[in-house]
Amino acid sequence: MGEHTNDGSRIADRLARVRERIAAAEARYGRPAGSVALLAVSKVQPAAAIVEAQEAGQIAFGESYVQEALDKRAALSELPVEWHFIGRVQTNKTRDIAARFDWVHGLCDLKHARRLAQQRPSEAGPLPVCVQINLSGEASKAGLAPEALPAFLDACAEFHALQLRGLMTLPAPAADLDAQRRPFVALRELRDRVARPDLPLETLSMGMTADLEAAIAEGATIVRVGTAIFGPRPSKA
Ligand SMILES: *Cc1c(COP(=O)(O)O)cnc(C)c1O
Repeated sequence: MGEHTNDGSRIADRLARVRERIAAAEARYGRPAGSVALLAVSKVQPAAAIVEAQEAGQIAFGESYVQEALDKRAALSELPVEWHFIGRVQTNKTRDIAARFDWVHGLCDLKHARRLAQQRPSEAGPLPVCVQINLSGEASKAGLAPEALPAFLDACAEFHALQLRGLMTLPAPAADLDAQRRPFVALRELRDRVARPDLPLETLSMGMTADLEAAIAEGATIVRVGTAIFGPRPSKA
């Protein structure tokens, strides 16, 4: 049972506190006010939690599990919100992702890119995507190696139904601000090396509940925050 089921004000209060954290970090690190967008990560949370957040002014929601997201979308079809896919793309889910999501944050496989482009309904317009980068080199972690990015971007150039908007990363937790900043600096510098006038890659999707200040310090334009807004995730028992 999430706390939001007994007390409707909790999500609005938490959301306000997260917005304050973002505004404080923007001010502290010399970022323009309003330059960091908040993606509310609602994976594993009930549809009612999304409604509460939307009523408190939240528009963009992040989901990691395709079927769960489609169920919530169907239940909330009238709600004016954006659906961002932040989980691992699986080959057998690309059709649903291409048709039912407004953004994809974790693209790192050319085959998936090709399928998403082929399966994107033309009336929906190009699908904004971020390429996920694995900065730790751990084989178990999703994401492209930094050195593989230029060739990946070249190969994606033919997919006109995809809009390459930037980079995303999901680093391992780190204890202090300096350690948290390291992977975020690396992502920003990688972006600065590969960006071109025709491919500015202006989006840096990085930072979560525990490290959003570090991400904003290093140039995040979207922070993906779940726990600080919705409380601990119910376990998928
Ligand atoms: C779950 C998740 C988040 C949110 O994490 P919190 O620590 O709850 O803020 C952000 N990004 C991705 C890719 C996630 O899977």
